[in-house]
Amino acid sequence: MKVAILGGGITGLTAAYYLAKNGFEVTVFERQKNFGGLASGFKAKNWDWSLERTYHHIFANDSDILNFSKEIGFDKFFFKKPQTSSIYDNNSKVKRQKLKVNKKFEVYPLDSPIDLLKFPYLNLIDKFRAGAILGFLKLSPFLPLFEKTTSIDFLRKTMGKKAYEMLFGQLFRKKFGEYAGNILASFFWARIKKRTKSLGYPVGGFQNFIDYLVDRLKKMNVELISDFEIKEILKIQNLKFKIQNYIYDIVISTLPTPILTKVSTKIFPAEFLQNLRKIKYLSALTVIIESKKPLLKDVYWLNISTPNIPIMAIVEHTNFIDKKYYGGNHLIYLGWYLKDNDKLMLMDNENLTKFIVPYLKLINNTFHVSRSTLYIFRSPFAQPIFDKEFIKVKPDFFTPAKNFYIANLDMTYPYDRGTNYAVKLGTQVAEIVSSNI
Ligand SMILES: Cc1cc2nc3c(=O)[nH]c(=O)nc-3n(C[C@H](O)[C@H](O)[C@H](O)COP(=O)(O)OP(=O)(O)OC[C@H]3O[C@@H](n4cnc5c(N)ncnc54)[C@H](O)[C@@H]3O)c2cc1C
Repeated sequence: MKVAILGGGITGLTAAYYLAKNGFEVTVFERQKNFGGLASGFKAKNWDWSLERTYHHIFANDSDILNFSKEIGFDKFFFKKPQTSSIYDNNSKVKRQKLKVNKKFEVYPLDSPIDLLKFPYLNLIDKFRAGAILGFLKLSPFLPLFEKTTSIDFLRKTMGKKAYEMLFGQLFRKKFGEYAGNILASFFWARIKKRTKSLGYPVGGFQNFIDYLVDRLKKMNVELISDFEIKEILKIQNLKFKIQNYIYDIVISTLPTPILTKVSTKIFPAEFLQNLRKIKYLSALTVIIESKKPLLKDVYWLNISTPNIPIMAIVEHTNFIDKKYYGGNHLIYLGWYLKDNDKLMLMDNENLTKFIVPYLKLINNTFHVSRSTLYIFRSPFAQPIFDKEFIKVKPDFFTPAKNFYIANLDMTYPYDRGTNYAVKLGTQVAEIVSSNI
């Protein structure tokens, strides 16, 4: 039987692997020249390893991708415990910490119960309440209650307004903008549940892992068509699907939902498409700075917990992965999640560069963006909004059209998207297809 997989990100490639293994004739269609989707990377001339267009690591408990990498014979993920910290406005009444960056801001590690105990901006009672609730979420199984309340209401009620605001308020506003107040508590539960201090990365970068998988697929006779944009899917003889001049028995869409709803109007009833169109998304904007000098001293992941620096997070990749793989240069990501019409999304690269300079100077006044190389990427539909509406309309593997399946990043709910879940979804959809013929 012939299967068309729409989208050559990790979900599509994983599904292709298992379906080919189970004897299906598989074709993968990918719009970009390269496979890998949101996890894909690029390599500058003097680099040995590729780098993701948006910061990527896995957690030590991401067993689906770790098992899959063994299954395909890659098995080259390694683990480290890089430092996560948060930057705050300096409150001069509080004793200065060693990690101060300039007199306006201070940086605190916030990655363990000990870090929380040492955190200066909360009193002991608030710290115990916050620690207790984070500990509870780590141990708790998923509870229906988490879908009846928002993260903000849940956290304010349990750890108190002050602790919520200090530890998470800015982070929610920076990540979700106007949707911050609507994100379900289930999302926060899943974030705490999954987080590990130990972070993993594939030798050579995620693109190396993807290229290895693509090579495996070629050897299994999977047809891989890149640089091909799916514009419309048609149904023929009420049984089969037509994509341009190709005909398939089964279709699996791993496309972002808003693209699927555009290309499948001849396949699905209007009501089904209308429901899927209710899901809201933010796009990701990433600026990568390649520099001779570091921006941060030791910190890998810096949450920006001050409204005075309008960046969501700074991720200094080379404080996690050795700079020797990148021509000895430091690689620093600046990240945002934004609506498509946000002024930063619409700003040209030159003005965006001018915009970031003063904020980076606030963090490290010896850092010169002008002496660096910048790479700027905008990724649409990068972050689905997990609100009350979402759980009513989220997609499922099965659709109203027989033999047409969906497996896309909305379906990682309540977990935030991730390569581990892409592998899991790809594996699950291949199992479903294999057992439904
Ligand atoms: C900012 C950011 C940071 C992230 N950080 C991490 C992290 O640290 N760790 C982690 O594990 N995960 C991370 N992720 C998530 C991870 O990248 C994704 O969950 C995963 O790559 C999704 O894979 P996918 O195949 O489901 O989707 P995608 O990668 O989106 O694949 C869908 C594919 O469909 C293709 N496509 C779209 N339209 C068409 C069309 N019309 N025709 C043909 N093809 C089309 C796209 O080009 C794409 O290749 C991050 C994501 C973002 C945005």
